[in-house]
Amino acid sequence: MARVVLKPRKAKPFFGRHPWVLSTAVSRVEGALPDGDAAELVTHEGNFVARGLYNGRSRIRMRLFTWDRGEELDAAFWQARLERAVALRELLGYDSAVGAARLVFSEGDGLSGLIVDRYGPYLVVQPTSLGMGLRLPIIVPALVQLLAPKGVLVRCDEATARAEGLELAEGPFWGTPPDGPVEIEEHGLRFAVDLMSGHKTGFYLDQRENRRRAARFLSGRRVLDMFCYTGGFSLHAAAAGAGEVLGVDSSRKAVELAESNAARNGLQQVTFACGSCFETMEAMRDQGRSFEAVVLDPPKFARGGRTLDEALRAYHYLNRLGVELLSPGGILVTCSCSGHVSRQDFQQMLLGVAQQTRREIQILEQHGAAPDHPTSATCAESEYLKCFICRVC
Ligand code: SAH
Repeated sequence: MARVVLKPRKAKPFFGRHPWVLSTAVSRVEGALPDGDAAELVTHEGNFVARGLYNGRSRIRMRLFTWDRGEELDAAFWQARLERAVALRELLGYDSAVGAARLVFSEGDGLSGLIVDRYGPYLVVQPTSLGMGLRLPIIVPALVQLLAPKGVLVRCDEATARAEGLELAEGPFWGTPPDGPVEIEEHGLRFAVDLMSGHKTGFYLDQRENRRRAARFLSGRRVLDMFCYTGGFSLHAAAAGAGEVLGVDSSRKAVELAESNAARNGLQQVTFACGSCFETMEAMRDQGRSFEAVVLDPPKFARGGRTLDEALRAYHYLNRLGVELLSPGGILVTCSCSGHVSRQDFQQMLLGVAQQTRREIQILEQHGAAPDHPTSATCAESEYLKCFICRVC
């Protein structure tokens, strides 16, 4: 088997089971090693560290899967990892036939480079590495055998395709594809999900528990749901008895789906508008409007470590606008899905907002992603979502 040889003094994180070997840690490759193939990772002295999949084109040169020398990365190995992942969702009670759940969360499930989501009877598979993309002919049949779906679709985002040199046709991969949006249920509410052209694989599954947790605080309140996408927080707020809900998103398609989702659930006190959240909030502030609750769930602001300061400034500005729109005693639900922004950074940002607006911000609850997005203890990067529920006096 081909070997990837580490530079001297670079082996510690990989003995520590971090799954990403960056190009800067690699000294050389011994033997023929086509991109996407399995290889052994060894120290510069030639001692076995782990086994993984190699990609000479990616900044993540190798993704590690086993530290057991006797274990091959063959079909039986992938099948066992998939079974382990699916068993976790059963343990969580995330296996309702009409529900949706993330079945495989990449590093969080010991399957770096693979995302699998289930929407009712359909599976959406999103490889985020070349190695996993090339293994779809092994992975999809294993999933079909385990879960007996109606159809399996493949999604591949452009940025990963570029970074990994992965060329993959998006669309139906196995079975019968859905003939339109798929309806799923979340905490008793029904949502239509567009599996082929929606964001991510169609729905922000990671906020599942946070939508319910937030809703608990929103009953009887006038709620502004910023970055509402297809209405997740808005509908849960309305169902929990919010007085009036306004959801805003810049995506016209998302807003249309949000409107149809409100109708689907017979929720009349919700309205949606298409527009920029920053501009909308600035205009509302200038008009002196106020709300009794504001939800902020923006897209990732920090894409890499270098843009951290910039991202924190954007979070600060956004949250400041949110606080300025809140009447005294208002509820602020504020989120960040930027992995580079730590929980401490985010709390520090709120401290700055409290100081500048001269408002008291009480953090009531702090959450992360739903447990079908597990954090691997040996891969800090698998934790990314922060959701703070606060009262602003
Ligand atoms: N809260 C949603 C998920 C939000 S994801 C849920 O529970 O499902 C972030 C959303 O922000 C996306 O729908 C995207 O279309 C929207 N968005 C990104 N930039 C925006 C901007 N400047 N103004 C308004 N919406 C924006």
